[in-house]
Amino acid sequence: MNKKYAMAYIIDRCIDCKACMVSCKAEWNVPEDFFRTHIDQGLKKELHGKFRMDFLPSQCNHCDKAPCVTVCPTKASHKREDGIVYVDRSRCVGCKYCIPSCPYDARFYNHDLGVAEKCTFCLPRIADGLEPACATTCPGNVRVFGDINDPASEISMVLGAAKENKQKVWKLREDLGTLPNIYYIQK
Ligand code: SF4
Ligand code: SF4
Repeated sequence: MNKKYAMAYIIDRCIDCKACMVSCKAEWNVPEDFFRTHIDQGLKKELHGKFRMDFLPSQCNHCDKAPCVTVCPTKASHKREDGIVYVDRSRCVGCKYCIPSCPYDARFYNHDLGVAEKCTFCLPRIADGLEPACATTCPGNVRVFGDINDPASEISMVLGAAKENKQKVWKLREDLGTLPNIYYIQK
């Protein structure tokens, strides 16, 4: 069976330190004003007048039915056999069709290179047997990366344990039919 790379976020562990955003930017020399991964904040009201702040990481979801792949006229944006949605810079003509097609706002236009850009799950790093930079850097171990087709991988075990413990496991905007591959795990 092919590998299928995915990531799970154990979101209760996120402290909004933004180390993932910074390490990603450094790893990929991401242009000023842009990031490949983000942390959103949400204020939740709780009982007895107390409030709770939630931090929600996000990045490209490496969707199985990715609109960005469908609209790309040159097939620069494509879904690889290992599940990664990748932009082949040598084929990207900078038409920007893919950027508004992404319902998760995961792409931007790299003016320096004239191509569309987004998370690649750090493809060169994983080819070298390393984790994506964001997962390595995260001090809270929020980000668990791996092959969900391998039952012995850390991500499979984390998702299995979440199911066993009846934790909430969800993905962003599943109603859109894009079949995203970033899992959110919450108490
Ligand atoms: Fe950036 Fe790599 Fe994390 Fe994607 S996986 S957000 S490219 S550090
Ligand atoms: Fe494409 Fe957006 Fe899905 Fe990533 S999140 S695969 S950029 S549609």
